Amino acid sequence: MRSSSHKAQHGSQRSYSTLKGQSKADASRSAMPHKVQKHAQTAHYMELGSYQYWPVLAPRGIRLYTYEQIPVFLRDNPYITDGYRAYLPSRLCIKSLFILSNETVNIWSHLLGFVLFFCLGVYNMAAVLPAAGASRDDYVIYSIGLFCLQLCMLCSVGFHLFCCHRSEKTSRRWMALDCAGVSIGILGCYVPGVFYTFYCHNYWRQVYLVAVLAMILAVFLAQIHPHYLNKQWRLIFSSVAVYGLVPTVHWICLTGGFSAPLVQAFVPRVLGMYFIAALALIFYISKVPERYFPGQLNYVGSSHQVWHVLLVFMFYWWHQTSGFIMTYRLTEPCPAGPPGPV
Ligand SMILES: [Zn+2]
Repeated sequence: MRSSSHKAQHGSQRSYSTLKGQSKADASRSAMPHKVQKHAQTAHYMELGSYQYWPVLAPRGIRLYTYEQIPVFLRDNPYITDGYRAYLPSRLCIKSLFILSNETVNIWSHLLGFVLFFCLGVYNMAAVLPAAGASRDDYVIYSIGLFCLQLCMLCSVGFHLFCCHRSEKTSRRWMALDCAGVSIGILGCYVPGVFYTFYCHNYWRQVYLVAVLAMILAVFLAQIHPHYLNKQWRLIFSSVAVYGLVPTVHWICLTGGFSAPLVQAFVPRVLGMYFIAALALIFYISKVPERYFPGQLNYVGSSHQVWHVLLVFMFYWWHQTSGFIMTYRLTEPCPAGPPGPV
């Protein structure tokens, strides 16, 4: 595997200089590795694109492919024309972490996101929570929230690292795990959010926590169902995220309406979170900006990379927001409410 791919890499570089003297199809037959020919019999062979100018970055055994050369299950965005890894065993998938491909920014953005939330967790446990006089419950809730965000980041890293696996089944399993990771990330936002906003309303806090857990569980079951359609996940996740407006409106009513200082401080932060989420989803679905510059944003600047960065920012934003409401609740006593479910 290693030697044939290595030869293929050299072959493709050689063919670039000889292409002028022969037809592209001829060049394709002589330069393409046996394995690729099998998968792309009808495809026109294209050169390695801009990647061939950085040969020093390619370790032995890994080469990059054009959109036409990759297997069908990897074809998702025709505006990303080059820089694909494909047909790799697990060992080379891991090794490809250190090469420049069209997944490099996707992998590293969420790997750094994981490091960010891990460090935030350590810092919070060591400094912020003890200073705020946090109880054992606070530690548990904070840990759950940050652990979910870290897990979401790692699932995404795993998918973008192993999507190029030579086995389609393995690639699809990682894709399912990436989707499951998004559900876990949403759960990580809901748990501290609901816990601290309904801090003084224990009954409703339990109601909304159970509702959220049931919803996320339903999404999980939908994902592992064989008839689950990949295209539907955006709709399902959007519904789960938009559902958060229900407890928010309820909480505004319970806290004394828009005139209450806490509502005025907290609601803009919630709206900010939804704004970032909507922006991220628009980039994801519309495939802007690469749609307008096909082939020019293969490595840096594509919509999925923007989606990744916005997702990290959104989680960070929400983490800071839950920190704000937690500190408020730990310093301000709950107002005495009327009898009945609170
Ligand atoms: Zn992704």
